[in-house]
Amino acid sequence: MSLPTQPDPVRARIQEYLPEMVSLRRDIHTHPELGYHEHRTSDLVAERLERWGFEVDRGLGGTGVVGTLKRGSGSAVIGLRADMDALPIEEATGLPYASRNPGVMHACGHDGHTTTLLTAARYLAEHGEFDGTLRVIFQPAEESLAGALKMLEEGLFERFPCDAIFGLHNMPGVPAGKLCFVEGPTMASSDTAIIRVQGRGGHGAVPQLSVDPVVAAASLVMALQSVVSRNVAPLETGVVTIGSIQGGSVSNVIPDSVELKLTIRAFSNQVRDLLERRIIEISKAQAQSFGAEALIDYQRGYPVLVNHAGETQLAREVALEHFGEDAIEAGFEPITASEDFAYMLEKVPGCYLFLGNGDSASLHNPGYNFNDEILPVGAAYWVKLVERYLG
Ligand SMILES: [Zn+2]
Ligand SMILES: [Zn+2]
Repeated sequence: MSLPTQPDPVRARIQEYLPEMVSLRRDIHTHPELGYHEHRTSDLVAERLERWGFEVDRGLGGTGVVGTLKRGSGSAVIGLRADMDALPIEEATGLPYASRNPGVMHACGHDGHTTTLLTAARYLAEHGEFDGTLRVIFQPAEESLAGALKMLEEGLFERFPCDAIFGLHNMPGVPAGKLCFVEGPTMASSDTAIIRVQGRGGHGAVPQLSVDPVVAAASLVMALQSVVSRNVAPLETGVVTIGSIQGGSVSNVIPDSVELKLTIRAFSNQVRDLLERRIIEISKAQAQSFGAEALIDYQRGYPVLVNHAGETQLAREVALEHFGEDAIEAGFEPITASEDFAYMLEKVPGCYLFLGNGDSASLHNPGYNFNDEILPVGAAYWVKLVERYLG
């Protein structure tokens, strides 16, 4: 346990309404909602923000909520973002406040992110000392459905301009309450490809009359391993994983086609482009060499998440100043998961940081739970960051 223990007025005040915020977190946990269906959560967020004096705008990205709080005459604007959606997972925590929505679960801690930001919003509304504009952005559908992109397409930063934006994600396996910062590329782009190797089916005993897509696909699986090892520069990185290969059903029939499903990750746009180009080239040529054909559906997903240098340095400085060196996880490295906050960071400079969730089950695991002990740490951090940025 490495929870910061400094006598701090912000932490003391947050501690006063922490029981209420923890029960709010657990209430959201009990009632998880899938992407773009966060109606109850969104109502709850909007109702609280209004109660605390925020100007509230709803409907961006469907269930998105933007709260704005102005103080003084300063012109600077800071945005803080949290995600509200849950996952299609059957919860197996056995907690008294476990999901009551069958097959849906807050297995990524977005219940915790939402409540952490609400807690900070409440403090800042009631006691915050700042001069400028604070925007709190609650987005739908972070899990694969690009809720951030939807909000951007519907004019998020045109309607609600921000000079800088920040977001955070809890991180199992990192000591509870430790803050983690990475400058530059921090999370990977996430693309998918479905490759259908089209041959010509026939009798398994008469292969000379068929074009066997199984052999072509097997060869393609091996050939694709050369993209990262031979085409990506040794000091760069990328991932090409073939997570599924399906074809045929019985031993004596050569199937018509075999389908491969890939996930592809990169930490730069150059490598991302290279991976796409080589996967397509190799698939086509490899299939062709067997007399088959490769039909490729290549879909780009979330972009590389790049933390901006200035904002990341500021974010780290605030942590250092208010929580001390011990509160920062040294040597935290970029992760190959992806995150749609990346779209927001393409438009506005900012930083996505991580907050240790302690020794919990991993994200997206049916046994995972957000650690309530880190809620006040995250909230106090947001407060300090806002007061510094709008100081
Ligand atoms: Zn997730
Ligand atoms: Zn998440």
